[in-house]
Amino acid sequence: MSPATIKKAVIFLVPLAILAAAFFFLRKIAALNPAYTELLLIAPYLAAVTGMFLSVHFHRGRPFTALLLVALFYYAYRTFLVDGITGYADQGIYFSFALLLPFNFALLAVMSERGIFSVAGRLRFIFLLVQAFLAWFAFRHYAEDILPLLTRIFFPLAALDGLPLPQPLLLFAGLLLILIFILAALRQAPIESGLLGGLGALVITLAAISRPDIPATFCTAAGLIITLSILQDSYNMAFRDDLTGIPSRRALNESLHGIGRRYAVAMLDIDHFKQFNDTYGHDVGDQVLKMVARKILAVSGGGRAYRYGGEEFTVIFSGKSSAEAVPHLEALRQVIAEYRLVLRGDDRPKDARQGESKRGSRSDSTEVSVTISIGVAEAGDAQRSVAEVMKAADKALYKAKSKGRNQVCC
Ligand code: GH3
Ligand code: MG
Ligand code: MG
Repeated sequence: MSPATIKKAVIFLVPLAILAAAFFFLRKIAALNPAYTELLLIAPYLAAVTGMFLSVHFHRGRPFTALLLVALFYYAYRTFLVDGITGYADQGIYFSFALLLPFNFALLAVMSERGIFSVAGRLRFIFLLVQAFLAWFAFRHYAEDILPLLTRIFFPLAALDGLPLPQPLLLFAGLLLILIFILAALRQAPIESGLLGGLGALVITLAAISRPDIPATFCTAAGLIITLSILQDSYNMAFRDDLTGIPSRRALNESLHGIGRRYAVAMLDIDHFKQFNDTYGHDVGDQVLKMVARKILAVSGGGRAYRYGGEEFTVIFSGKSSAEAVPHLEALRQVIAEYRLVLRGDDRPKDARQGESKRGSRSDSTEVSVTISIGVAEAGDAQRSVAEVMKAADKALYKAKSKGRNQVCC
């Protein structure tokens, strides 16, 4: 696996670790003090409510809804299913959750964040009530028609025979888990990976609902996974730049603490960016900033990239001198200078359109490009403070600008 792939897998570590811990914990339950066993029975509520408070604090409607569903599911289990699934009513409840939990988790993963008590948030709660009503209505009046559909056997697999979760529902949950996995991996977003792990824990609960300790343990795990994803998400918000997605100035300040003695700092600044914005508009400017940030993030030589502010970036090379960092920065400068960003349709420059009336007649794509100037400084042996090194890098940047831009200066 490449380092980049490993980095992308990190987002799944917390859910996996908690699921593993839950399996480990299961084997210890028999030896627990009865007081703790009592506590375990309410642990899913504690985990869910804690996460819901955090969600309110951070205005996160998606994990809030997911945790509400965890708590409702566990409540339904404790109230109706704990003694076994017997009769149409129990089956209706069990199958409704088996169908609606994956459906709603996938929906939450697909949706963008819209808050909790906003109009969109309230509509979401109404939608949940509608689903509950429909499920009740369907099982109340059409249970005989629905149950054979839900419990059909597609493949004669002995391994699945003992599961209360029938094949169609297992398949449905599996497909939606894959969908959420893809979304989480693509977006590299903690909430999505929390929804994935949370749903994973709930599917385990559904598949082993008759085993005594599984529901309490895995509903707690679901609650914890989603709760931790809220914390991870808020951490990212603080240390990741919103526009470009790369580490922010705050993250830079953090990593400068205890950086050691040997390091090089590069300050990077987009050339004539004000003019670029004036010509192509702020939205195109934002697109270019994102592109430049992506390239800087991929700088070779182990450089760590940060958005310093505006159109300025910083790259830190730990354990390197300026001379060692320069070839990597030179390569980066070249990559950015040679890159052509293609603008289509609405993104096209407003100025360039004016007076030319080429709308619809000529090709509807335009290419834009930018250059960057870079200043580098190193800590050296002179025991310069971090602030002094940053200042020296800034000075080198000015030099690069005054020498005509699109170059690296020390
Ligand atoms: P120089 O080559 O000397 O660096 O010229 P410049 O125009 O890049 O320098 P200056 O620092 O005066 O301008 C920076 C401009 O960057 C100002 C602002 O319009 C633009 N800018 C800063 N932050 C953002 C942003 O988040 N999005 C967009 N689109 N533009 C930004
Ligand atoms: Mg600037
Ligand atoms: Mg600039």
